[in-house]
Amino acid sequence: MTKVAAVKADSYDQHIVEQAITELLAHLGGMSQFIQPGDRVLVKPNMLEAVEKGLCVTTDPEVVRAVIRAVRQVGAIPVVGDSPGTTSTVKAAEKCGILAVCQEEKVELAAFDETTEVAYPDGITVKKFTVTRHLAEVDKVISLAKMKTHTFMGATGATKNLFGCIVGMQKAQFHLRMQARQEFAAMLIDLANCVKPVLSIIDGVIGMEGNGPRNGKPIKAGVILGGANCYAVDVVMAEMMGFKPEQLPVTALALKRSLTPAFPAIELVGSGGQLRWKFVEPRSLQSLEDRIPKWLAAFGRSQLTARPEITASCVGCGRCVKHCPPQAMDIVSGQAAIDYTKCIRCYCCQELCPYDAVQLHDGLLLQMAKQITRLR
Ligand code: SF4
Ligand code: SF4
Repeated sequence: MTKVAAVKADSYDQHIVEQAITELLAHLGGMSQFIQPGDRVLVKPNMLEAVEKGLCVTTDPEVVRAVIRAVRQVGAIPVVGDSPGTTSTVKAAEKCGILAVCQEEKVELAAFDETTEVAYPDGITVKKFTVTRHLAEVDKVISLAKMKTHTFMGATGATKNLFGCIVGMQKAQFHLRMQARQEFAAMLIDLANCVKPVLSIIDGVIGMEGNGPRNGKPIKAGVILGGANCYAVDVVMAEMMGFKPEQLPVTALALKRSLTPAFPAIELVGSGGQLRWKFVEPRSLQSLEDRIPKWLAAFGRSQLTARPEITASCVGCGRCVKHCPPQAMDIVSGQAAIDYTKCIRCYCCQELCPYDAVQLHDGLLLQMAKQITRLR
């Protein structure tokens, strides 16, 4: 039976987090079930951006510390690394406190700047990935994600966290190639199957609700969960957040491909197993794009998904313009402007804006379609 453990953790106090990780691992048979002495182990937190730790955008440094120590306890060698969206690994790690933990624990912080190609012939959507070269230099990977909503994928957990193995701006290429949410989810599943994390842990002590992964609101969930199967861990995370796993493109596809059992068939153990919350959904979760025939997909994406709009909070910093995958944005009269004929609704602009100046709005057609769907 596929096992997922969930343990309570009320705060990011170092002692509480360390106890929680110890309890979590005990439920899973101990860290030695996943790694062996001498293994070089990549601990992959979510370091989305250079954002302060109090905003709960990134995996908390104390969770990273506790996992580093657990890896060391079995005689393995931890290495911490991620590729943030628009800045360097070191800058992001410095801001969120992970750099300080790496220095205190004397652990290498791997800057994901150089790449290597990895063939993945079993991939259904992608048969070759260009990833950080550090993946080729480690024996094992631990996905150390954050429990957050995500405007494009509904939620980001253990599987989506591995997208950080794609270096910097190369992420934009995947948004261009896989514009539909199901296509993007299929790519993420190929990537996760290629990376093969031996253990997935999600920091849900304080998660994020609403329009995450950066501009949502922190929500205290008081839980850390984990297991060997990243898809099963994500299914449990979805249930705890109050979402149906079938609503989220990654867990929906993982269930369809039998990569994880459905929630009732997962053996859920630990002191946090009963915790349930009602996270505020990201607006895009109710996109109707997934329900229309493929031949109408392009029309559906523009008409039946929430539309990004620039608000008065925009200071014209240009970050979104630089990272918009189809180059649908420009700075006009000191503010960002969107060419909707080019916009692919990837929501990278909303995700990356440091001023929360991109809001999502349902167009009239989407509002009508939602109304009709509700009435049925
Ligand atoms: S929308 Fe945000 S990221 Fe884009 S230019 Fe304005 S402030 Fe900068
Ligand atoms: S405008 Fe925003 S949502 Fe549209 S393609 Fe650019 S980054 Fe993606």
